[in-house]
Amino acid sequence: MESRKVGILGGGQLGRMVQEAASRLNISLTILDEPIDSPAKQLNALQSHLQGSFKDPAKILELAATVDVITVEIEHVDTEVLKQLEASGKSIHPTPATIALIQDKFLQKQHLAQHHIPLADSLDCPDQEAIERAGEQFGFPFMLKAKTMAYDGKGNYVVRSAEDLKDARSKLAVGVPLYAERWARFDRELAVMVVRSVTGEVQSYPVVETVHKNSICHLVFAPAQVGRGLTGTSDETFSTSIQDRARKVAEDAIASLSGAGVFGVEMFLMKDGEILLNEIAPRPHNSGHYTIEACHTSQYENHLRAILGLPLGSTAMKVQASGMLNILGAGKDTYLACELAYGIPGATTHLYGKKECKAGRKMGHITVVGDSMQEVHDRLLPMVLAMDPKDE
Ligand code: ATP
Ligand code: MG
Ligand code: MG
Repeated sequence: MESRKVGILGGGQLGRMVQEAASRLNISLTILDEPIDSPAKQLNALQSHLQGSFKDPAKILELAATVDVITVEIEHVDTEVLKQLEASGKSIHPTPATIALIQDKFLQKQHLAQHHIPLADSLDCPDQEAIERAGEQFGFPFMLKAKTMAYDGKGNYVVRSAEDLKDARSKLAVGVPLYAERWARFDRELAVMVVRSVTGEVQSYPVVETVHKNSICHLVFAPAQVGRGLTGTSDETFSTSIQDRARKVAEDAIASLSGAGVFGVEMFLMKDGEILLNEIAPRPHNSGHYTIEACHTSQYENHLRAILGLPLGSTAMKVQASGMLNILGAGKDTYLACELAYGIPGATTHLYGKKECKAGRKMGHITVVGDSMQEVHDRLLPMVLAMDPKDE
C-alpha cells in the first residue's frame, strides 16, 4: 500500500484522529510537537516522532528530511520555513501561503472580500483611535478580535458599550494586532467541511449546525435541521436553498485558496437568510468530528487521501442524523457525560489522552448517531444536562 511518509505539525486531538485514520491505511505519520506524549503521539509510540515546537524552523526542517509530504493539524506554525521547503520542491498541504493567510484573520477577511465572499464588515484597529472609530461605524456591541493566535474565542472581546471602549485593548493579549468586526446578528451558526485533493477533485460534507457556548464549540448537529439546537425536534432538514448556498459559500472560499486537504468553513446564518463566512480552518475541524461515525469517509481519512492524491471517499452521511458534544475540562464533573455514554446506544466516546484537565480545555467528545434527529436529541440530552443542567 502507501509507501510515502507523511509528517504533521501538531500532535493534539486533531492529529490523534488523523493518526487513527493513518493507522488503518498503513500510512506512516511522523508528528512534530513539544510533549513526548502528546495526544497523537500516544497512538503510535513506536514511531520516532519529533520533540519540539511546530514554530521552530530547525525542527520543521528536521521533520521535512524524513517525510515525503508535510501537513498541519494547527495553523499557528512557522510558515517562512515551510515556504522555503516548498520552493525547494517539498510537498506541503495546504500550501504555506494558505496557512499564512489564514493565520492572520484580518488578512484572511481581506482576501475573502476580494473574492466576493459575504462577510461581516471589519476594520483594522492598529490604535485606540481606530477602536473608537469601530464603535462609531459598527455601533454596539461589536467584536474586537486578535488577528493572530486566536482559538476557542480566546482572541475575541465583545465591546458592549462606549464605556467598554477605553479598556477593550487590555482585554486581549498584550501586543497582539487587533481588528474589529461588526456584530453578526445570526440566527444560528453553520459549518461545512470541504476537501480538495492534489488532483483538484473537490467534495463537501453536509451542512451542520454548530452551537457555541462562551465562544467555544459545544454541540454540532448533522445535518443542520429546521429545528434549533437541542430544543429542535424537527426532522426536517434545511431547505435545499440554504444548504446549497452554504455549500457554495464554503466551496467558493476554498476555491480562492491553494493547496490540498480538508478545510473547515464556519458561517453565520443571518435572520434574513443571508449567509456570512466567519472563518476558515486549513485542516480538519471540530465541527467535522461527527464524520468518523456518521459519514462514509471521515474528514481525517479524506484529509490523508487528499494530500496524497488518493481517490477521495464519499462525504455523504451513512446514518440519518448525528450530534456531537464536546467534553470540556470542568473539574471533577468533566467525565460525567462519558459515564452516561456507556449506557446510550449510538454514542461513541473519544477521549484525547490529555493529562492536564484545565477548565474549558477540550478533553474529548461524544458522537451520537440515530435514525432521526429526534432520536439523536433524546440520546444526547441526558449527557448535555449532566454537564450543565441549565442547557435544557
Ligand atoms: P475557533 O476555536 O473556531 O478557531 P476563534 O477563537 O477563531 O474560534 P471566532 O470563530 O472568530 O473565534 O469566534 C468564536 C465565536 O464567537 C463564533 O463562533 C461566534 O459564536 C462568535 N462570533 C465571532 N465573530 C462574531 C461576530 N462578528 N458577531 C457575533 N458573534 C461572533
Ligand atoms: Mg479560529
Ligand atoms: Mg471559529
